[in-house]
Amino acid sequence: MKAVCYKCGDFKPTAWKRCKSCNYRPVGDDEKAQHLLLSSHFNNEKKLLKFSEHIKDGKPLEFKEKDLEVVRLVIKDTINRGHQHKMYILKLSGTFFLTIVFMVIFYFIQTSK
Ligand SMILES: [Zn+2]
Repeated sequence: MKAVCYKCGDFKPTAWKRCKSCNYRPVGDDEKAQHLLLSSHFNNEKKLLKFSEHIKDGKPLEFKEKDLEVVRLVIKDTINRGHQHKMYILKLSGTFFLTIVFMVIFYFIQTSK
């Protein structure tokens, strides 16, 4: 993935990484949303190059509120899904662990007879 730094217009590997040129890192949902719009997640490289030139020219880049809203939803959804995924793994490993415990208990009951 490629992304453009919102502050200086340089390219960086991912949207939320610290920029090597200006040391800027997006914080908060709004800035994260802006940076995602400036990445290959939402735009192709041709457009990203245009954004980069635009910012490097010192012109402010304006985002449509509608676009930002969509990205915010995507971010929220990703975070929620990540959480659910973790819970699922936790439950799964919990059941697995219990199964082993029961097997061990069963084994000892069998051998103590
Ligand atoms: Zn930068």
